[in-house]
Amino acid sequence: MPSLREKLKALEELQQIDLETNDVRAALEAMPARQAAVEAKVLEARKVYDDAKARLEGNERERRQIDTLLNMERDKVKKWEGRLGEIRTPREYAALSREIDIAKKSNDTQTQLSKDLVNAAADLAKGLEARAEALADAEDATEAARAALLQEKAGLDRRLAALDTRRGEAAALVDPGLLGRYEGIKKRRAGIAVAPVVGSTCKGCHRNVPPQLSIVLQRADSIETCPNCNRIIYSALAVNPPAPPPA
Ligand SMILES: [Zn+2]
Repeated sequence: MPSLREKLKALEELQQIDLETNDVRAALEAMPARQAAVEAKVLEARKVYDDAKARLEGNERERRQIDTLLNMERDKVKKWEGRLGEIRTPREYAALSREIDIAKKSNDTQTQLSKDLVNAAADLAKGLEARAEALADAEDATEAARAALLQEKAGLDRRLAALDTRRGEAAALVDPGLLGRYEGIKKRRAGIAVAPVVGSTCKGCHRNVPPQLSIVLQRADSIETCPNCNRIIYSALAVNPPAPPPA
């Protein structure tokens, strides 16, 4: 049967374990958002790369279309030029010559357009290469960050399991009634149910306890509560006396 002093020590331990558990849980809850932020970086780099690739592919598609049409138009001009020799009337000859001139001018314009697209494709290809490198870098960085986060999460899980074990041990020293009181006060008092009294000040509410209560706390053989904040209080000095000087 644990003494009152041991129970008070166990309550103090429970309080520390619960506060630490809250911190670990909060860190675990923040993990998915941090993981998403890490993944967002590589997703962004991939999007930039995909956009650059789409621009280059669009350029190549457009140039192929122009070149295909251009070949057809050039064949047409050749055919027309062949037909010029068969024409008998000057009027028809002049009309076809004009058509040929117009078609040639149009073909020149399209040829220039095709050349411009080839030049632009070189720049686009260079840009795409830079983006592919940036994507590879982002993927490497993400992989490292992902691994670091997984390791951190494993550490937090281990801490949580260790805290859970310690909590079971500390709770076993406190009888169920007292444990229930502890839980009730913890709920009402922002997670802090137990507070040490240092000097004559309750560390839960930073108010002084009455001198008579201070004397009772020195004995550490009863469960007392702070008249101001209603937390379970104990004398820090009486529950955790300083180690005696070495003999
Ligand atoms: Zn208090």
